[in-house]
Amino acid sequence: MIKAENIYKYFGDLEVLKGIDLHIKEKEVVAIVGPSGSGKTTLLQILGTLDKPAKNKNEELIINQERVLEQQDKSISRFRNTHIGFIFQFHQLLPEFTALENVCIPAYIQKRTKKDAEENAKKLLEFLGLDHRMDHKPNALSGGEQQRVAVARALINNPSVVFADEPSGNLDSASAKKLHELFFQLRDEFGHTFVIVTHNEELAEMADRVLVMKDGKLTSK
Ligand code: ADP
Ligand code: MG
Repeated sequence: MIKAENIYKYFGDLEVLKGIDLHIKEKEVVAIVGPSGSGKTTLLQILGTLDKPAKNKNEELIINQERVLEQQDKSISRFRNTHIGFIFQFHQLLPEFTALENVCIPAYIQKRTKKDAEENAKKLLEFLGLDHRMDHKPNALSGGEQQRVAVARALINNPSVVFADEPSGNLDSASAKKLHELFFQLRDEFGHTFVIVTHNEELAEMADRVLVMKDGKLTSK
């Protein structure tokens, strides 16, 4: 599903990733833990095709059998919109739009019709227990609800893999627990693969596999 090899990343003199090799199977839920500043977000951005690794002749990133590092920016964007979903610590919903509209945006980028997008978005919001909240704007929703809307937005184009960067970092423990359980429900129901950066030990313990980022390298726990 995901194969990353020889991933290096520098910011000026700072060597953040020092040769990451990572293989993730379909339908796996993998947690990445590690100290703040150790490069977890940097790695997730590279795996999610939002950033590029340093060139070193041997770097490789294959997602869904596609060698993404060789592609042009335009085709990477298309690939990302179709195959990858993102969930961030701060939901990053657009405040002027309702929950339903926020969820539909990635579908519109993919030029799906309004009818198709809305039908799909409503189904997802129902699955996430938000059917009575669809017409609310983000500031009328609780933190947990906002984050579940962000989950629906990540899933609207039925991506094969979802990258989440401290998704419960901003939630109270009850909402966090609900969100974590949701990830596994979604994996079981729809077969998504999840790569989740987290400081939450409960979530890490639930994961199929925990990887630790330390000194620019990943090791299994
Ligand atoms: P984590 O997510 O594990 O907390 P990050 O991947 O955000 O760590 O950051 C790793 C290191 O790289 C940190 O020292 C951070 O300051 C640095 N860093 C991250 N992004 C940039 C950037 N765009 N420019 C310069 N330094 C950066
Ligand atoms: Mg981070």
